[in-house]
Amino acid sequence: NPNREHRPRQILVTGGAGFIGSNFVHQVLGNNPDSFVVNLDLLTYAGNPENLEGLPAPDRTLFVQGDICDRALVDSLLRKHQIDTIVHFAAESHVDRSIDGPAAFVQTNVVGTFTLLEAARHYWLEEGWLKERNSHGESCRFLHVSTDEVYGSLTPSDPAFTETTPYAPNSPYSAAKAGSDHLVRAYFHTFGLPVVTTNCSNNYGPRQNMEKFIPTIIRSCFVQDPIPVYGDGSNVRDWLYVTDHCEGIARAIEAGRLGETYNIGGDCERNNLEIARDVCAVMDDLRPAAAPHDKLIRFVADRPGHDWRYAIDFSKLENELGWRPKETFESGIRRTVEWYLGDERWRQRVTDGSHAGERLGLGSNGAGSKGADE
Ligand code: NAD
Repeated sequence: NPNREHRPRQILVTGGAGFIGSNFVHQVLGNNPDSFVVNLDLLTYAGNPENLEGLPAPDRTLFVQGDICDRALVDSLLRKHQIDTIVHFAAESHVDRSIDGPAAFVQTNVVGTFTLLEAARHYWLEEGWLKERNSHGESCRFLHVSTDEVYGSLTPSDPAFTETTPYAPNSPYSAAKAGSDHLVRAYFHTFGLPVVTTNCSNNYGPRQNMEKFIPTIIRSCFVQDPIPVYGDGSNVRDWLYVTDHCEGIARAIEAGRLGETYNIGGDCERNNLEIARDVCAVMDDLRPAAAPHDKLIRFVADRPGHDWRYAIDFSKLENELGWRPKETFESGIRRTVEWYLGDERWRQRVTDGSHAGERLGLGSNGAGSKGADE
């Protein structure tokens, strides 16, 4: 039965120095004592080796700096480490950057995913690896990590995205992710590659790049800079704490049905202004001398083509695989703020300005600023 529980042992994580990938590496090493994790990451601006400090089992992981588009490298890693599970996070992930420079998004998100699929197909199906291992009761999986943004934008009255919602990507980022999702699907239907795809809503939590919305709010509060909020702040996202996402991915690897897609969401729709105010309230509590922090909120020119609302129906993952988010937004956002404030290097970087802030173009009055999202 190809849908029996899969136990990942020799795992290739791509993009494991980024936000979600690094949280996953911490989690999987802690939860799976017989696993070995090869972490392939190009260390673009988004990859941060600090995210891999304090891993629970450093002897069971190997970091490789390299490009997922490098077929020879991917081939050699699969063979050398007899990879049975690929968990594919690596991507260009920031919507604003995809507007400024879409080429890297097509390259990494589409060509990179294609390269991994081809390498996996070759190693698992053509070299007879899968056949041989299956006869010993082992199996392999390709877990493709994707986003709810492939479904496009919702109006206030639309029902939440389900796995059968038609794809309607609106940004070069989501279009490139949609392209990669389609390739993954095709490799199942055409070649029988054992794939599962997850489409998740907005994540927040420790180790997220400073350019994203919630880290931007925390940084702005800490250094008393303007907090840039796009448009009138009414864009709605469904927020999920990152460790809950990682647990959903782990369940989909173990027990997801091959060729299926699973939505992952937080049951937590909030608009950007609410998010900014929620973070400010936590900051007021933790740093009362600087309260009220919400006086720093500034509305800035909206992002072109800005999707209005995302909402996720995750009942398939819940009913089939028994997953639900554990963290509430209130507990998760407090943990997140405390994590950033507790990181001395972060405090140093944001205080002396040596972080990604220059890209956001934050002036003292917020004029000309870019907001941040996702
Ligand atoms: P991130 O930008 O923080 O990390 C991406 C990582 O991939 C970085 O470490 C980067 O160095 C690496 N990378 C980029 N190009 C590479 C290449 N060519 N070869 C090897 N490594 C490369 O992204 P994230 O927020 O952690 O997102 C991870 C995945 O989850 C992405 O596929 C994204 O589409 C998806 N996702 C993210 C969210 C979210 O809210 N952040 C939500 C749903 C889905």
